[in-house]
Amino acid sequence: MELIELIKQFASKQYLVVSHYPRGHLIIAGALCSLVLVLLILPLGDTDEEANGRTEIVLDIDLQQNVDTEQDQPDALTLSDFVITAEVAPQAATQPILEDVTLWQNIEVKSGDNLSTIFSKVGLSDQDLFRVLNSSDEAKVLNQVYPGYQLDFLIPPEGELEQLRLLKSPLEGFLFTLNNNNYDVESILNFPQLRPTFKVGSIADSLFMAGQREQIPAVTIMEMANIFGGVIDFILDPRAGDDFSILYDEKYLDGEFIGHGDILATQYTNQGKTFIAVRYSNEEGETGYYNAEGESMRKAFLRSPLDVFRISSNFNPSRRHPILNTIRAHKGTDYAAPRGTPIRTTSDGQVTRASRNGSFGNLVIVKHAGGFETKYAHLSKYANGVKKGKRVRQGDIIGYVGTTGSATGPHLHYEFLMGGVHQNPRTIIDKLPKAESIDPTEMDSFRMQTADLLKRFSDMNSTTFITLNQPSAD
Ligand SMILES: [Zn+2]
Repeated sequence: MELIELIKQFASKQYLVVSHYPRGHLIIAGALCSLVLVLLILPLGDTDEEANGRTEIVLDIDLQQNVDTEQDQPDALTLSDFVITAEVAPQAATQPILEDVTLWQNIEVKSGDNLSTIFSKVGLSDQDLFRVLNSSDEAKVLNQVYPGYQLDFLIPPEGELEQLRLLKSPLEGFLFTLNNNNYDVESILNFPQLRPTFKVGSIADSLFMAGQREQIPAVTIMEMANIFGGVIDFILDPRAGDDFSILYDEKYLDGEFIGHGDILATQYTNQGKTFIAVRYSNEEGETGYYNAEGESMRKAFLRSPLDVFRISSNFNPSRRHPILNTIRAHKGTDYAAPRGTPIRTTSDGQVTRASRNGSFGNLVIVKHAGGFETKYAHLSKYANGVKKGKRVRQGDIIGYVGTTGSATGPHLHYEFLMGGVHQNPRTIIDKLPKAESIDPTEMDSFRMQTADLLKRFSDMNSTTFITLNQPSAD
């Protein structure tokens, strides 16, 4: 049946993306261009015979859908787009074959659903299900279907399941195709289109609020705070007037936003001092953030033991006077924070104590390489599995803010010791051995990968921040 052939050709969404995005649009990707192009070109690597067939079909759709390939951001077509438009398009009435496209039935898996009920919803029997499940070993993936997954059924009028598409996410899934009473399984791998997005913000109250004002996703703000976690204590250091910028990817599939990607470059100016970090992946595929000189942003110790973003979006450090006492008063730094705020260990190490200790209340002590030790007191509770002997990595949650021991309000009492002697972590960290840098032999590769990005990022920053700081013209 010709129609079925036509529909099968649509199974590859990538091809449609390539076809409908004008080249000019792709070029926007700038420094990422090569990566994006590689991703977009990949699907074209299909066999020639298929490519020929698809070209004709896509042209066909262009005519019938009036897709304007000249417009700035045309929405690439998904199969469901096609179905809906085909139904309302004036031509549809005279093109009965297009109506048959609605043979696709799309079901989103809800909690409580099982395959049997889903199959019966689209008019298929348990025998039909059994046939698919037993067609191959790969078909067993159908036994692990979770809420949120998408199941698309193609059932022509004859009533036999022709194709079944299982999508775990818009990017990943499986396609089952009837072939001689059996089902062939192939995996679906869609590559998102990445659109770099540039945002700036400035601190008036809290970093979180600044992000909200500029409509920067919270997860991206948190990622920025993590990137700078070795150089800035995001509880104690931010001041009104600090500003920041982030260049990050947004992911699109078939013109539809599907999620936020990684930060490519970011800058934070804290009390007049500017830090810049750029993303770099080495040949082993390890990715990290570095300054322009290739020095890692990841330091031996995190500046702040609190992961304030995880729990309290409204926590506003500038109003709550996070330092209750000075370092001189009692050999530690106190961070006021709501009860339950997660506490993370500031460096890799081993827990040497996780138990009650007089006025410290619930206390965790972590021993680190190089004769360092950190203490975390007054915890409301320990994190799961945290006990004496447990190995921890930098940033691992070890417990939660509380008031145990002698504490007047919920806060974390944090101590930093070197060779058994109390130190002020806010000054000692700067004196610790220099951060890891890109190996000199790798610097060429580092520069090649980051130079364009850094240049573009710097241009964006200078344009934006000059504009922001210009006096009004009157
Ligand atoms: Zn204290």
